Amino acid sequence: MTNKRRSLPETLPLLPVTDSVIFPRMVVPLMVKEDEYSLLIDDTLGKEKFLVVGLVIDPEKEEDGPPEVHRVGTTVQVIKMSKTDGGTVLVVQGIARVAIEAVVSGKPYQEVRVRKLKEINRRGKKIDAMTSNLLGLFQQIVELSPHLPNELIPLSRNVDDPGALADMLVSTVNLDRLKKQGILEILDVRKRLEKMILFLGEELELQKMGKKIHDEVTKGIDKHQREYYLKEQLKAIQKELGMDMEEPSEVEELRESLAQKKLPEHALQTAEKEIGRLAKMHPSSSEYTVSRTYLDWILDLPWMESTEDNLDLKRAEAVLDRHHYNLEKVKKRILEFLAVRKLNPGHKGPILCLVGPPGTGKTSLGRSIAEALERKFVRMSLGGIRDEAEIRGHRRTYVGALPGRIVQGIKRAGANNPVFVLDEIDKVGADFRGDPSSALLEALDPEQNFSFSDHYLGLEFDLSRVMFIATANQLEPIPPALRDRMEVLELSGYTEEEKVNIATKFLIPRQVAEHGLKRKHIAFRKPGIRKIIREYTREAGLRNLEREIGGICRGVARKVADGSTEKMIVTPEEVLEHLGKPKFARDPAERASIPGVATGLAWTPAGGDILFIEATKMPGNRSLVLTGQLGDVMKESAQAALSYLRSKAKDLGIPEDFYKDLDLHIHVPAGAIPKDGPSAGVTMLTALASLLTARPVKPKVAMTGEATLRGTVLPVGGIKDKVLAARREGMTQIILPDGNRNDLDDIPENIRKQLTFHLVSRMDEVLNLALTPGKKALVGKD
Ligand code: ADP
Repeated sequence: MTNKRRSLPETLPLLPVTDSVIFPRMVVPLMVKEDEYSLLIDDTLGKEKFLVVGLVIDPEKEEDGPPEVHRVGTTVQVIKMSKTDGGTVLVVQGIARVAIEAVVSGKPYQEVRVRKLKEINRRGKKIDAMTSNLLGLFQQIVELSPHLPNELIPLSRNVDDPGALADMLVSTVNLDRLKKQGILEILDVRKRLEKMILFLGEELELQKMGKKIHDEVTKGIDKHQREYYLKEQLKAIQKELGMDMEEPSEVEELRESLAQKKLPEHALQTAEKEIGRLAKMHPSSSEYTVSRTYLDWILDLPWMESTEDNLDLKRAEAVLDRHHYNLEKVKKRILEFLAVRKLNPGHKGPILCLVGPPGTGKTSLGRSIAEALERKFVRMSLGGIRDEAEIRGHRRTYVGALPGRIVQGIKRAGANNPVFVLDEIDKVGADFRGDPSSALLEALDPEQNFSFSDHYLGLEFDLSRVMFIATANQLEPIPPALRDRMEVLELSGYTEEEKVNIATKFLIPRQVAEHGLKRKHIAFRKPGIRKIIREYTREAGLRNLEREIGGICRGVARKVADGSTEKMIVTPEEVLEHLGKPKFARDPAERASIPGVATGLAWTPAGGDILFIEATKMPGNRSLVLTGQLGDVMKESAQAALSYLRSKAKDLGIPEDFYKDLDLHIHVPAGAIPKDGPSAGVTMLTALASLLTARPVKPKVAMTGEATLRGTVLPVGGIKDKVLAARREGMTQIILPDGNRNDLDDIPENIRKQLTFHLVSRMDEVLNLALTPGKKALVGKD
């Protein structure tokens, strides 16, 4: 910065500026709008490059002519010029303070006459003191201000002219334009310093306040940023060391749950280890999810939680009675079973297995046992399970692996001693996927089930407090190893009378309530119930009956919801209206009216049923055709029946060579259902005999029994269910093997009274009883 002392022209072009105040010695860029001042610029640059810069008094004011400027301005010399998009940038250096005295010429820019102003420049201690004061203030401002470079401090200290120092500082520090103009106008250096001290003092206060506010605002942000920064760094370090991510809060929660959970030692250790593993995994990795799910399972299982047993037998009896009609024998056995538990709690008794047709109350007995004992109840259907993993779980290496059904059931129960009903244990199959029954055995067997191992958990779970109850439709398919551990309680089908009673006392009230109905809306009459039982169901149990009752309730519920207030009385007519056409024709006896058809009694897993066996003959050569999905045993019975007939042909009045030109065909309808067993032997023989003798079987006679080659009738199973079915289908005479005499005791008295029983030991007795009296054999001649 050199102070150019040269004589200036007296008239100079005037450049009005709105926001810059230019001080002598300062080098400042000025932006000039070219269209307005292009001539000014050209003229100036063409001459000595001097001009006067004056601060516009009021930049907001719209003026027609040139804007009015302050009286004191600065002469400057243009030292550089460059063009930009918006106009021209003039880099100017201030030369001297001048007074603008008069406008010499107008348009297109003003030329003014100027007079150089002289500074009053005194020296002395006071000035020195003020200078150093000013420097001190400036230093503080620079230190506080992020925009001012620290180099300004030594620079300012090198200026030894106090007036020049004041000028330099005023153009450096961010002062308001009018304050700057004020300083420009002060010619007395001492006064200028005074004013500057004042301004810089104010500026410093402002800066300090600004900084304080800034600090307060940023303190919060800083803290967060700092933490964030540190965390990121930590992550990077952990990653570098192969330690993976930080512990998410989930891990903390798991630790807390674990601390509050009662676990056996081995499970606790595994859980702790797993949490340790989890803590090092990335939360979005699939491994994390697997590990997390596993921990949830461990934490959710009731390892040590059990409910307290209520071993009040009176209460248990009341509960069983409350939910079940009759079933006295079964209830008695259940109560005995509970009594043993009461007297000897540690006793590992056998597992109860309730066997009987569907819908006879097996599951609901299980539920009542749970209610009586005040235990939790879970039920799991084993029907169709072929894979051991269903029982015992998949190893965790499989995607989506889960514990087996036993452990799942226990979790659902929420206690380690629920009553656990294993439904349809007779339907468990075995194939290449492993044998589920061995896993079941491990769960059920009191000798081993204290350490049941589930593949998923990989931990032993104590099942010894669980009360398992199995249910099955048949006993035979249950693997012997399992069967040996069970105490079998048999339930058989219900008689019509029992069904009516159960419907009235249990099923109807339940369905009515479930459908949101009240007594004032609906009442069932006995004939109506009977009609449902006879014509809409054909079952040993109660499932369909309950469903049909539900169907009627639904219809009534709809009417009530529609605003009907009429009470519906369920009579046979109403049943017809609600349930539509009967599903089962009532009169099967009719079918047996032609020769060759005999009515047998069969036992199926769904209870007893009647079965028509049809025999026909056609020209052919001695073959016996059997259809209707018959099993081997049944086929053999058919062969045996034919052989017997051939040997007895004479006695029966059939030509001895009757089969010579014939094919015989035996068909057992309801074809899709596989049938087997020897108990249809008697019926097949009767059907054949009826065909060959042309004597129809008496209507309403039904029979069961195994027939030997020599015509002896042997006892068979399922008598009670078969008799109930016969009664249900309207049969009146029942032919049974004499060997089944004792089974008649199981048949309810009232049913027994309605039927005639014929106990036989030989086939000829059967034929005499069953066939209508005939005249003579017509075999081969019709
Ligand atoms: P299962 O398990 O033998 O197939 P459920 O226990 O499911 O049969 O019984 C079917 C329905 O019949 C249930 O609503 C049950 O309450 C009812 N039920 C069965 N037997 C009786 C009974 N003796 N007394 C009252 N309701 C019974």
